[in-house]
Amino acid sequence: MLQLGDDNDAHRDDNRTMTDDTNGAQDGGASPFGAMKINFGGGPEAAPAGGALTPFGGISIISDGPDEVPAQPAGPIGYTGDPGRTETHVLIIGSGPAGLTAAIYAARANLQPIVLAGSTPGGQLMLTSDVENYPGFPDGIDGPELMAKMRAQAERFGSQVVDVDIDRVDFSARPFRVWARGTEYRGQSVIIATGASALWLNLESEQRLRGRGVSACATCDGFFFRNREIAVVGGGDSAMEEANFLTKFASKVHLLHRRDGFRASKIMIDRTYNHPKIEVHTNTEVAEVLGDAKVEGLRLRDTATGEERDLPMEGLFIAIGHKPNTDVFADWLDVDAKGYLVAHDHTRSRIDGVFIAGDVHDHRYRQAVTAAGDGCKAAIDAERWLESEGLAEHQTATTW
Ligand SMILES: Cc1cc2nc3c(=O)[nH]c(=O)nc-3n(C[C@H](O)[C@H](O)[C@H](O)COP(=O)(O)OP(=O)(O)OC[C@H]3O[C@@H](n4cnc5c(N)ncnc54)[C@H](O)[C@@H]3O)c2cc1C
Repeated sequence: MLQLGDDNDAHRDDNRTMTDDTNGAQDGGASPFGAMKINFGGGPEAAPAGGALTPFGGISIISDGPDEVPAQPAGPIGYTGDPGRTETHVLIIGSGPAGLTAAIYAARANLQPIVLAGSTPGGQLMLTSDVENYPGFPDGIDGPELMAKMRAQAERFGSQVVDVDIDRVDFSARPFRVWARGTEYRGQSVIIATGASALWLNLESEQRLRGRGVSACATCDGFFFRNREIAVVGGGDSAMEEANFLTKFASKVHLLHRRDGFRASKIMIDRTYNHPKIEVHTNTEVAEVLGDAKVEGLRLRDTATGEERDLPMEGLFIAIGHKPNTDVFADWLDVDAKGYLVAHDHTRSRIDGVFIAGDVHDHRYRQAVTAAGDGCKAAIDAERWLESEGLAEHQTATTW
């Protein structure tokens, strides 16, 4: 069922919800994932009756519908606590589309990868209810279902997936060493695919209404707001780009910025101010998102006077930036001014044998398909590098 209100003819009337990246832990509340509920409660015992265990360790996906739980191909299941093997040709850090695609390619090249999946196994799409732009799924696919399929595919060819965050690395010599929860993992090569996290306002009402009108991805969710009045929060180029992009769908876009001046480039500022569908509000911050089951309005605060006013609104896009998950690598690899890893010569880092894939370095495209493409490239680069170093036999499935 649609969570944004289904009273608009131009709006979609099928069973889908907009994307969402709440942590899903809303006790007893209606699921922001439509028919699909995600239980982040921990072990298998946390899965209510009827729920199906996924390869995501303690995360279970429970479906009301008969067809929504993906069939799991036969193959090894994921490890949640047991580190299993700790040495490999290819150590992959992160299990979003980039990490799992790298695992599929590396596993099919007989490199027996170990994937350290992190505390968000499956990555950002695990928390997204509807993906309509990933090729191969003409009717769209739920994010968790897509990621469960990717993980099952990686495991089917022998990838070992461990759901742990790494906390330290040592890239000074080979094999490279990585630590997670006190266990040391060693890889002759490493692929870093730790992604980036969207920043939020951190209002209680914003968290509660994520997936019900609040989003952090215009490319992903703009389509759901046809002929609706919506707002974008932010003052940089990304916020302006999102506001302009959203005019393709929305009847009107309000750009809200808490300062007087903008960080965005002059050309984007001019384009935004001149757009007939965009109204710019400076010195304006969101004090609260109004609505119980979906976004119905915004309580706006004037940052100069403190005065508050309510504005009816059906959607809210937060465009205040992303934080790349790179802290643990910052002492070893090049990072740009925004903290993203810098890749040289396709997927290489400045350390031979350490490769980079996905949103952890890409702040331009930030899409599942580009991250997956990067994962593929990084695995092929790692495979060829291992062969060139005499660390793996020339037996690749990717030579054609
Ligand atoms: C709300 C929302 C909706 C979206 N909808 C779409 C959509 O419809 N279509 C689309 O194409 N894209 C969509 N995206 C974008 C898409 O999700 C990302 O571009 C994509 O997931 C990036 O993949 P990635 O593998 O690079 O990183 P991520 O998916 O971010 O995965 C990062 C992985 O790294 C792991 N990790 C992080 N730190 C550590 C650590 N210290 N140790 C070990 N592991 C770690 C995490 O656990 C996670 O598994 C959406 C994004 C958001 C926020």
